[in-house]
Amino acid sequence: MARYTDAVCRLCRREQEKLFLKGTRCNTEKCAVTKRNFAPGQHGQAKTRVKLSNYGLQLREKQKVKRMYGVLERQFRKYFLIASKSKGVTGKVLLQLLERRLDNVIFRLGLGLSRAQARQFVRHNFVYVNSGRVNIPSYLVKKDDLIEIKAKEKAKDKLKDNLELSKDRTLPSWLEFDAKEFKAKVARLPEKEDIQHPIEEQLIVELYSK
Ligand code: SF4
Repeated sequence: MARYTDAVCRLCRREQEKLFLKGTRCNTEKCAVTKRNFAPGQHGQAKTRVKLSNYGLQLREKQKVKRMYGVLERQFRKYFLIASKSKGVTGKVLLQLLERRLDNVIFRLGLGLSRAQARQFVRHNFVYVNSGRVNIPSYLVKKDDLIEIKAKEKAKDKLKDNLELSKDRTLPSWLEFDAKEFKAKVARLPEKEDIQHPIEEQLIVELYSK
C-alpha cells in the first residue's frame, strides 16, 4: 500500500502550520514549524509572502487535510467522490470519512502518538473490530463498532506509554474508551466539530468541483 515516506516536518512547513505528524516532538520547541515557519526549499526564507490566488488557497487546504490524515491523492479523491454522491453535505461527509478511518481512530484514542504510528499498529495486527482482526488502516468504523487491542505484553507496554504521553489530548466524544481494558466503542459518527483542527472543507469541495 502506497504511503508518503519522506521527511514529514517539511509538509507542515509547506502548509505553515502544525499538522502533528511526529508525535511528542510536535509539542516541543524542536518542532520545525516553531523553529522555521517558512516554506521549505533550497533558497531559504522568501523576503515577502506571496498572496495566494483562490486556486492556491483551495489547493493548500486540500494538501493540508490530505497530509494530516496521511492519505495520498488517489484515495483522497475517492473519498471526495463518495462524499459528493452521498445525501449529506459533501465537505462534511468528506471529513467524516477521513475521521472514521481506523488508523485515525487509534490515533484519536491516544494509542498512537501520530497517525503514522497508529497506522503501523493496525498493520501489525494489534487491532480487532467487532472481534475480527482488521489490519487495513483505511477501514471505516461505523456506529456501535467495538474496537479492541490484542497484543503481546511488550507491545501493550508501548501502547501504555503512548497513552501516558498523550494524556493531555481530549478524547473526542464520538468515541468511548476503556484504557485499562484497551477497548473502545464508536458511540456515534464524528462531526466536523469533533475534529479539533481548523479546516475549511468548502475550499476542497470548490477545488474538486471545477
Ligand atoms: Fe509538524 Fe510535528 Fe514536525 Fe512540528 S514536529 S513540523 S508539528 S511533524
